[in-house]
Amino acid sequence: MKYVSTRGKMPEKSFTEVLVMGLAPDGGLAVPTRIPTLNEATLARWETLSYPDLACEIFKLYIDDIPQDTLKTLIRGAYNKTKFGSDDITPLRFLDEHTAVLGLSNGPTLAFKDIAMQMIGELFEYVLERNAQQLNIVGATSGDTGSAAEHAMIGKQHINVFMLSPHGRMSPFQQAQMYGLDEPNIVNIAVKGVFDDCQDIVKSINADADFKAKHRIGAVNSINWARILAQVVYYFKGYFAAKKAHPEQTISFTVPSGNFGNVYAGFVAKQMGLPIDKLVVATNENDVLDEFFRTAHYNVRPSPAVHETSSPSMDIGKASNFERYIYNLLGDDAAQLRALWQQVEQQQHFDFSEHQQALRASGFLSGKSTHANRLATIKATYETHQDYLDPHTADGLYVTWQWQARGELSGISICLETALPAKFEQTLEEALGHVPPRPAGYEHIEDCDKHVVVIDNEAEAVKQLVRQHG
Ligand SMILES: *Cc1c(COP(=O)(O)O)cnc(C)c1O
Repeated sequence: MKYVSTRGKMPEKSFTEVLVMGLAPDGGLAVPTRIPTLNEATLARWETLSYPDLACEIFKLYIDDIPQDTLKTLIRGAYNKTKFGSDDITPLRFLDEHTAVLGLSNGPTLAFKDIAMQMIGELFEYVLERNAQQLNIVGATSGDTGSAAEHAMIGKQHINVFMLSPHGRMSPFQQAQMYGLDEPNIVNIAVKGVFDDCQDIVKSINADADFKAKHRIGAVNSINWARILAQVVYYFKGYFAAKKAHPEQTISFTVPSGNFGNVYAGFVAKQMGLPIDKLVVATNENDVLDEFFRTAHYNVRPSPAVHETSSPSMDIGKASNFERYIYNLLGDDAAQLRALWQQVEQQQHFDFSEHQQALRASGFLSGKSTHANRLATIKATYETHQDYLDPHTADGLYVTWQWQARGELSGISICLETALPAKFEQTLEEALGHVPPRPAGYEHIEDCDKHVVVIDNEAEAVKQLVRQHG
């Protein structure tokens, strides 16, 4: 399998080359030259596979420059009971006979990003070891990504992590998840500023080509193809689990969405031939994607226009992985894609209505949930099912209910659980008047010693830390 850029100006690369690449040199995103399709016999054979075995079958189709027994070892390092609490890795639970929740958040940092990040950690270490290279990951986080990345890189010999976060702006729980780590290869950096300031520093460091090359600066951001690939697996696993319980029903997924990475993985699974009925994109008040699916107009929002909400990991005005989806809808036509993204850059907008047919055929629905909707959904789900939802998952379930009530979502709806409520206790308290019990081992995490360097809002201070530790 070879990879090209959505913008069409990158020579073909192998999987391990795009793994450590970040953005393509032409500004695009790495995509496979074709998405492999499965026949019914293969799908039937996969139904009973364990999570790691299923992951292996899927990865093999996209990775041809890592030996298969090595790949198996890496997968077992990433996906095991010790890290994810059960052999299922992503257990499915039914709320009622039409609605289920796929538990993606039982990894070390209690959010679905662990699933991709744990695999990335294994893959990076293997490839860097093979190439006798070191990598300094410099990233910015407002919460979930940074902690998932740090926990995936613990103990890695070839990787240092320099993670920037906005000083005093993450929840105490999220701060403890990151700053509580005392690891020689992890440096927490709290920037006196907001998340955008952190991101600007990362951009400016990456724009300094000399520094970037000299210190081997890398990233683990949400555009990494390997993260998408890792996420494809649980759509198969969740589908098979639902089918086993209700063999005659159609099966759809609802995905609380921000950067479109999670739901794009579902679209890849669907293109591979997994018979997913609908993919439902749920947004919060930042409803750029919902607007697109309703109107075929894509209007990105600059950061100052992005609302701060109680489902903060979906507070995004420009969804990076959306580019891959549009590329596929255009029949992998890089020239047309380039023209649309030029419009995004110049006018923050494009009109996709002439492609209505491809859009409709892709099987997406969408909806939006607000603070009040999310609180009501958390409350109703607790009262009816004694089940605790995090605010992002509640957005997903709210949108699922809307479409079920309109009669346009039938069969089984699987809502992806993108985080556990323990990470967002303040919102749970607001919805329920109490906070849910925390998972074992997380009861007192705020009491730990904090390991974090507080710096002024300037790139030079980060460069200095990289020079010292990198
Ligand atoms: C990252 C994240 C999302 C959004 O996922 P995308 O892949 O960016 O669409 C939703 N919920 C939670 C809890 C997250 O951490």
